[in-house]
Amino acid sequence: MSGDRNISREVLEKWDDEYVWHPFTPHSIYREEEPLTVVAGTGHYLIDADGERFFDGVGSIWCNIFGHQREEIDAAVREQLQHIAHSTLLGNTNDRPVILAKRLVELAPEGLKKVFYSDNGSTSVEIALKMALQFWQQEAGGDGRKRTKFMGLANAYNGDTVGAVSVGGIDLFHSRFGPLLFETVRGPSPEIYHRPEEKSREQAEREFVENFDRVFDKHASELAAVIIEPGMQGAGGMITYPEGFLRHAREKTRDADVLLILDEVAMGMGRSGEMFACQREGVNPDFLCIAKGLTGGYIPVAATLTTDRVYEAFLGPAEEGRTFFHGHTFTGNALGCAAALATLDIFEDDDILAEVRRKSEVLRKYLSPLQVDENVGDIRQYGLAVGIELVEDKEKRKSFEGAKRIGMKVCRAARDRGVFLRPLGDVIVLMPPLSITDEEIELLVDAVKFGIKEVLQ
Ligand SMILES: *Cc1c(COP(=O)(O)O)cnc(C)c1O
Repeated sequence: MSGDRNISREVLEKWDDEYVWHPFTPHSIYREEEPLTVVAGTGHYLIDADGERFFDGVGSIWCNIFGHQREEIDAAVREQLQHIAHSTLLGNTNDRPVILAKRLVELAPEGLKKVFYSDNGSTSVEIALKMALQFWQQEAGGDGRKRTKFMGLANAYNGDTVGAVSVGGIDLFHSRFGPLLFETVRGPSPEIYHRPEEKSREQAEREFVENFDRVFDKHASELAAVIIEPGMQGAGGMITYPEGFLRHAREKTRDADVLLILDEVAMGMGRSGEMFACQREGVNPDFLCIAKGLTGGYIPVAATLTTDRVYEAFLGPAEEGRTFFHGHTFTGNALGCAAALATLDIFEDDDILAEVRRKSEVLRKYLSPLQVDENVGDIRQYGLAVGIELVEDKEKRKSFEGAKRIGMKVCRAARDRGVFLRPLGDVIVLMPPLSITDEEIELLVDAVKFGIKEVLQ
């Protein structure tokens, strides 16, 4: 029966092995690593099929920002069901996405005036790429047609659809798909931890910016846009940028009249202590891509925000073909937009941004003793996002062999302390709900310490 909630964990696992192919999952070792079988969630905790509770330390892969069964969001979705779950935005409209768009524009950095919806982070990026390309073809009086290239940074992650993979720069995820991808101008990664031993951090940071400038200057005249993940490169290993880099990139792109796409799918929606990370840096992009936390992690809704300048290049008599021919069936889904509106209310009602700034410092304080651990190479934090890079030899900054799956093992051990985590290689990722309490911050960090001790000492 479809509503059966009494199927045992054993049966669910058997069916899972038989029928489900999981994303980003090596299936030959999947079961060995003892995956969770979640059947419920309440507050900041996941509940598995045995009724055990685990703190959701990565916010269900970075999207759950206010907990599960959050009363206000549940109520908004239920209320919306009394009206309509979904109707199309193709040539028509619906009250929820209209109201949400107005609120997003009010919250967004200056200059972003139009909201184009889709249903995940990857599509929000595809849309920015396609809009930027078409913009240059239609820009009044522009030399537009020559601007067909995109610049992305090494180690970037912008999603898994073909355009997003083309601008992305993680070889492990992306190299297989080479024949399918368009050519991208590749800038450097801000990754500097693994610099040569004799090189200082300051020198490596300076070289990163110089390399960015060199690549950008060489290609500026053919670039439609540059795409950057502000704050941190997320899936690339939770990598921070040198202070002031984003402002610098904005100045360079503005001077050369190249569009700037900011992928805030991970770092947007409050994680930085501002609603959007670019606001923390005082930067106004031409495109802002948001998804993950937008609906509190409830329902897939994404948005690509852009400027009047971009929007206006798409206006004109229909027969001129300036229309943006792109859209998804579930674009602007009303249930999702209702969840997003409730999520924005929580930001206001609970003064979330100020709380995130405060809790980031609490988290920093709890993390600092870990710095002396002999296997903790680097701790990188941006607001309530953290990457703890584990290494075999701290002095030589030498990583463990990937096959040892140290990161996975440490996260599995942390679960014995009641915390669910998922690493990126040997980088332990902390992306807790923004509504995490001070006590839970302590629980989270203690579980990481316990995991490291169990596996490595
Ligand atoms: C998760 C993520 C994406 C992709 O979003 P999906 O909803 O998984 O398609 C894109 N960019 C960044 C920075 C992300 O973290």
